[in-house]
Amino acid sequence: MTFLKGETWNGQVYSGGWVSPQGGTAAVIEPATGAELGRIGIATPADTARAVRRASEAQPAWAATPHTERSAILRRAAQLWEENAQEIEGWVIRESGKIGPAAQFETHVSVQEIYEAAALPSRPYGDLLPSEKPRLSFAERVPAGVVGVIAPFNFPQILSIRSVAPALALGNAVVLKPDPRTSVSGGVVLARVFEEAGLPDGLLHVLPGGPDVGEALITDLLVRIISFTGSTAVGRRVGELAAKHLKRAHLELGGNSALIILDDADVAAAASAGAWGSFLHQGQICMTTGRHLVADRIYDDYVAAIAEKASHLPVGDPASGQVALGPIIDERQRDKVHALVTGSTEQGAKLAAGGTYEGLFYQPTVLADVTTGMPAYASEVFGPVAPVLRFSDFDEAARIAAETEYGLSLGILTKDVMRGLELARRIPTGIVHINDQTVDDEPNIPFGGIFDSGTGTRFGGTANLEAFTETRWVTVQGDIAQYPF
Ligand code: NAP
Repeated sequence: MTFLKGETWNGQVYSGGWVSPQGGTAAVIEPATGAELGRIGIATPADTARAVRRASEAQPAWAATPHTERSAILRRAAQLWEENAQEIEGWVIRESGKIGPAAQFETHVSVQEIYEAAALPSRPYGDLLPSEKPRLSFAERVPAGVVGVIAPFNFPQILSIRSVAPALALGNAVVLKPDPRTSVSGGVVLARVFEEAGLPDGLLHVLPGGPDVGEALITDLLVRIISFTGSTAVGRRVGELAAKHLKRAHLELGGNSALIILDDADVAAAASAGAWGSFLHQGQICMTTGRHLVADRIYDDYVAAIAEKASHLPVGDPASGQVALGPIIDERQRDKVHALVTGSTEQGAKLAAGGTYEGLFYQPTVLADVTTGMPAYASEVFGPVAPVLRFSDFDEAARIAAETEYGLSLGILTKDVMRGLELARRIPTGIVHINDQTVDDEPNIPFGGIFDSGTGTRFGGTANLEAFTETRWVTVQGDIAQYPF
């Protein structure tokens, strides 16, 4: 018997135990082979409404549970996740096409996210406030009630647990809608872990389903906060719906992050960082390096070095071999990637490496002689593509890096770190790394983007406390207040 117990979740969703949803089942497909790995239950809006009601009934008792007990359940969940890491990583590799080391990184961060969340229940949850009247006046943070979490496929564990764990820790109930393509690693894992950890019944619901389930969650009156991670287009729709229903939405959206390589940078090291930034997990990361801006003087050397690297990276099934890149998640996404690449070559970009595919395996691709209007440069590709653009001076680098609707991450490679910091100050993003590429994450850091990359930085202790609670003003005095009438 395995921890994830396929016989339990096959065809079922987790909502007050493992139950049959009204939406039937869908195949869990391994992108690398096309094999069916199992069948996941698919929820409907009616299932969602039931789950939300149940969650809201269970939540008050959980909020009243001593903080030590809530913490202990979260710590136990983290331990279970760690103890079963190998099995969980196996699912991540097969379901999302991620290579082993990236799956291990994902598991590691997810476990640490839960430990960070386990520290939240014992933190101070309010402030004593001065009052003009003789009374005790304070602001306290109270659980919001039911939190809805909607997550994408690319880092299914992290992008679910980074909201689910702090929301639960702070006394909320949670209804999670994972992407149906990664419902095991981004859904069943959480359900099984918290089930075994002893989370009281009804507090966590995992409902794989389509946009109708997501929208049912957003519009349900009992759901007070939505935590959404996904594309900017869908995020906009989520934000509109949430605003219409006057509820808070945390939106973690797309990116098109620049890596700026100044003329004093070591070209070989820069090409290695750039290749990692663009090709890790086939470029399917919100922080992926989507734009390589390289100083004129070293441009040709950089293109040659990254193209050389790209043409030697092994691409294949991550479950059965030592590869650097696995498959793209599905045909629709692969076709989108290819259209952006061919659209750019039609406009004059030069293919320095890649540009071809077999099935879902897309070769790491380097585009040279890129200009700012080309589709692979101007849009979020979400595939293993490195468009390389030339700049002539510091001011031009700052200007073109900032010319994007996104604002997630930024990398600057230079021997002069103060110059790097000066450049960073001129380019608005939520994250910046001097002498590193654009992809990184740690559970205790403030994470988030600006502009079309989302509604602002959160995660990390204090930010989570604010994200998943409401503030209440409370006053207390010994006798009833006196009034003139
Ligand atoms: P997506 O299409 O926006 O889907 C994300 C989630 O939203 C899925 O669970 C999806 O369900 C659901 N959804 C779709 N339409 C919905 C609607 N109308 N209402 C509510 N939920 C809805 O994202 P994706 O293309 O799969 O994921 C990649 C995107 O996510 C990229 O743009 C990437 O940059 C971004 N991302 C951002 C971060 C970050 O932290 N900033 C992290 C990772 C990824 P279905 O699959 O059933 O449609």
